[in-house]
Amino acid sequence: MSTPHYYAAPVLSLLSRPSFTGPEHLPVSWIGESTDGERLAEFAGRLCYMSQHNPAKRATREYLENIKKQGHGSVLEHANYSILFEGVSRSLTHELVRHRAGFAYSQLSQRYVDESEANFVVPPAVLGDAALEATWRAQVEQAQEVYVSLVAQLMERYGWVADKVHRRKMAREAARAVLPNATETKIVVTANARAWRTMLELRSSEGAELEIRRMAIATLRLLQTEAPGFFSDFEIYTGEDRREAARIGFHKV
Ligand SMILES: Cc1cc2nc3c(=O)[nH]c(=O)nc-3n(C[C@H](O)[C@H](O)[C@H](O)COP(=O)(O)OP(=O)(O)OC[C@H]3O[C@@H](n4cnc5c(N)ncnc54)[C@H](O)[C@@H]3O)c2cc1C
Repeated sequence: MSTPHYYAAPVLSLLSRPSFTGPEHLPVSWIGESTDGERLAEFAGRLCYMSQHNPAKRATREYLENIKKQGHGSVLEHANYSILFEGVSRSLTHELVRHRAGFAYSQLSQRYVDESEANFVVPPAVLGDAALEATWRAQVEQAQEVYVSLVAQLMERYGWVADKVHRRKMAREAARAVLPNATETKIVVTANARAWRTMLELRSSEGAELEIRRMAIATLRLLQTEAPGFFSDFEIYTGEDRREAARIGFHKV
C-alpha cells in the first residue's frame, strides 16, 4: 500500500459543451460575442416569437440577461455542459446527486474498483492545521488498512465462488463499509444551464457544506468563463466565515 494522495481542492475537466448549427432558412441577426451554447438558447427563445430579425437589436448576452430577468429560463435547458469532477469526496457526491431535475451522473463504483490505493479529500475545516490533519490522516490510513485486510479475508471466505470478478465484487462491496466519507471519488456530471444555476445557487451559498461550496465556486468560475450569458449574474464574494461564497442575481429562472 502506497501513501495516499490528499486532495486540498477539486479537479475539474470540462468534457463537453453545446455545438450549434443555425438552420439556413431561419437566420438570426446575431449581435456581439457569444458561444454555441448561448446561441442555441437565443435561437430557441427567438423561435417562440419568430423574432430572428432581432427587432430590439440585442446582443446575445443582453438577450439572455433579459430571459433571466423575465424568468423564461426554460430556453436555458437546451444547453448542456458535462464536467468530470475528481478530488471530491464521497460525502460531497452524496449531497451532489440530490440535484435531480436536468442532471445526469456516472460515478466510480466502489463495488468494482479496488480502493486499496484510494486517495482522500481533506475537509476544508481541517486543512492547514497540522495537528488536526495528523489526527484525521491517522484515522483515514487505519481505515484503509482495515479495508485491505477485509478484502483479503472476504476473498478467502468466499473462495468457493468460481467467478473471480463476482467474488472480488462481493469482497469489495462489503469491505467498503469501513472506508471514510472522505474517500476520493470521480464523477461525470451533465446538466443543462438552468439546472446548473439551481444547484450552484444552493451549493455556493454560505449555508452550504464547505467542500461542496468550494466545488460549486470552482464550477461557477469554469461555467462563467465558458458561457457568461448563462452565469454572469452570480457574484463571488468572501463570506463572514472568510471563505468564498456566491450570490445569484436572478433566483430560479
Ligand atoms: C444547505 C443545504 C442543506 C441541506 N440539508 C439537507 C438535510 O439535512 N437532509 C436532506 O435530506 N437534504 C438536505 N439538503 C438537500 C435538499 O433537501 C435538496 O434535496 C437538494 O438541495 C436538491 O434540491 P432540489 O430538490 O431543489 O433540486 P432538484 O432535484 O435539482 O430540483 C430542482 C427543482 O425542480 C423542482 N422539482 C424537482 N423534483 C421535483 C419533484 N419530484 N416534484 C416537484 N418539483 C420538483 C423543484 O422546484 C426543485 O427545486 C440540503 C441542501 C442544502 C443546499
